[in-house]
Amino acid sequence: LRQAAHGRRHEEARTQDGHRVEVAANLGSTAHAADAVERGAEGVGLLRTEFVFMAHPQEPDLATQIAEYSKAFDALGGRPLVARTLDVGGDKPLAYWPMPQEDNPFLGVRGIRLTLTRPEVLETQLRALLTAAGTRPVRIMFPMVKDIEEFRAGKALFDRVQAQVKAADVQLGVMIEVPSCALLAPSLAKEADFFSIGTNDLTQYTLAIDRGHPQLSAQSDALHPSVLHLIRLTVEAAHAEGRWVGVCGELGSDPQAIPVLVGLGVDELSVSSRRVPLVKARIRELTLPRARELAALALKQPTAAAVREALETA
Ligand code: PEP
Ligand code: MG
Repeated sequence: LRQAAHGRRHEEARTQDGHRVEVAANLGSTAHAADAVERGAEGVGLLRTEFVFMAHPQEPDLATQIAEYSKAFDALGGRPLVARTLDVGGDKPLAYWPMPQEDNPFLGVRGIRLTLTRPEVLETQLRALLTAAGTRPVRIMFPMVKDIEEFRAGKALFDRVQAQVKAADVQLGVMIEVPSCALLAPSLAKEADFFSIGTNDLTQYTLAIDRGHPQLSAQSDALHPSVLHLIRLTVEAAHAEGRWVGVCGELGSDPQAIPVLVGLGVDELSVSSRRVPLVKARIRELTLPRARELAALALKQPTAAAVREALETA
């Protein structure tokens, strides 16, 4: 399978009955964009832009960021790039931003909450992304959004920048990684162009288990039916408004989860580059009705273990 998957890595992934699912790559650095394309990625589904900020002793200026993002656009040759705005704070401090000590950093000032307190930083980043994109497709999304209020605050900044630096092909979306956002997806879908589900954090916040907890990792399974119901709500809300939905958390490359995600209607899976060929191969084994059947079966289970067992024997 590995050999066959490798041979077909540059082909689109379609189920046997012709339903297309895009497969993109998650990148932690623009230096890996060419490698992602070589491995068959149809674009970048998640650029974790933190690296640009962490690699410098102080905030990277506009020119530095433009140069950095341009590298990814150049390597992608017109394929779309989904960039997440700076996602630090809490447990991921930036040396040059003094932040107060927090008792619960995962519930603290992080993601969009943090960048909204530094609008000039967010604005510079948006300007750099739009400038680097030029005529090439760019999708920008905000991390850790909890409801439409935060999205609107980010969008107001974005609109200001976009009025000055017009990128030709741009969409503005939201990461769905806080349960409140999945539950309120119908309101967000009216204003956001797309959703990308971050199953790592979505699982953490749904199950109330620290995603890095050494003793609880066995219980922190993203294939939990509660998480699947939130994904279902998100996809239904998005499609009702004609928006697309990706999954950019680890669940997207879990072989047991792929049929379920396809069956739930997810339009794009963004996974680590080396997994792209196998994820495409897994999609090709499916039919859409079968995937829907497996998704319905998974949604009916009471625990993650029961989901895995039901999928195993289905
Ligand atoms: C996620 O939370 O699933 C995600 C993709 O973002 P990160 O892992 O960078 O928090
Ligand atoms: Mg996350």
